[in-house]
Amino acid sequence: MKALVFNGPGQIIYEDFPDPKIDDDRNLIIQVKKCSICGSDLHPYHGDKIGRADYSKPVEKFCTGHEIIGEVVEIGKAVRNHKVGDNILIEGGVGCGDCVNCRKGSANICTAYAQGRIGTAYGLSAKLQGGHSEYFQVHNADLGAMKIPAGISDEQAILLTDALATGYYGVKTARVKAGDVVGVIGQGPVGLMAAESAYAAGASKVYTIEPNEARREKSKRFGAIPLEPEMAVPTILEDTKRLGIDAVIDAVGKATTIKQAIKLAKFGGRVSILGIIQPEATLSLYYAQMKSVTIHAGIVGISGMWTELLPLVQHGKIKGENVFTHHFDLKDGAEAYRVFESQDDGVMKIMMTP
Ligand SMILES: [Zn+2]
Ligand SMILES: [Zn+2]
Repeated sequence: MKALVFNGPGQIIYEDFPDPKIDDDRNLIIQVKKCSICGSDLHPYHGDKIGRADYSKPVEKFCTGHEIIGEVVEIGKAVRNHKVGDNILIEGGVGCGDCVNCRKGSANICTAYAQGRIGTAYGLSAKLQGGHSEYFQVHNADLGAMKIPAGISDEQAILLTDALATGYYGVKTARVKAGDVVGVIGQGPVGLMAAESAYAAGASKVYTIEPNEARREKSKRFGAIPLEPEMAVPTILEDTKRLGIDAVIDAVGKATTIKQAIKLAKFGGRVSILGIIQPEATLSLYYAQMKSVTIHAGIVGISGMWTELLPLVQHGKIKGENVFTHHFDLKDGAEAYRVFESQDDGVMKIMMTP
């Protein structure tokens, strides 16, 4: 088959790659219908680190991508919830499928991953091939994939594989409740989905903080108040008589944005960090402690969000609109990565078709 293959930082090449073969009875194979590039795919692309992986050093080639939907073409003997011909959406993260955490949809805290026995997400190493490809093996398919219900668009289905589930996880871990005033730092796809999810959870006001003007404007559509980063602290402190806000979701994960999140939170407020923090990032927790701010930093367990999220999408409480700005054929994936990385041309999220 053809696939986008990681050949080193900055080098995503559309080339021949071995077809996937079912290597566990719980797995299945799909023909990929659509796939997208996630912000975290840019960490290998930039030669950064994720978990135990350091992409600045030579690594075995692998297919990229963990935001995937497609049609089931072959199933393993132990698969119960799917059949050939089904259109399914796939959880971007993978666990062992056996431990207590995997069974409740929290592959992010899988015990086998904690012990270093398995990979964490598709398309980040040769251990778990990604789905920027014509065919793709879904692991633990009964737990980590869902049939796409009627009325869910391809765009919404792809958002449920990662960005929307991650944004919603930020809202849950920041414990947003009805009436809360919320700030979301970063208005890439995850931040935008966090802002929309905050309203769905009953937030009375959402500030969205983002340097890129085109991105800043998007959240206005569902009523958020966009702010440039330099204006966020003075504006929000003035609006709240210097008290700060109930909850802040950081979809960037840099030391500067985490510091800003702590500044924006009220005494006793909550901060949830979604952006992948680089190991070198350092910051003092002095103000967090002085303000008794609770900080949550984590990686979403995607399928664990679906039960709550799906009805919100089906009933139009979360629309996930205006996220996909660009469409490419998979064969032009190298260009798609370049455009996505540049943030030029108003790019927000890219849909690719094999
Ligand atoms: Zn992702
Ligand atoms: Zn597990």
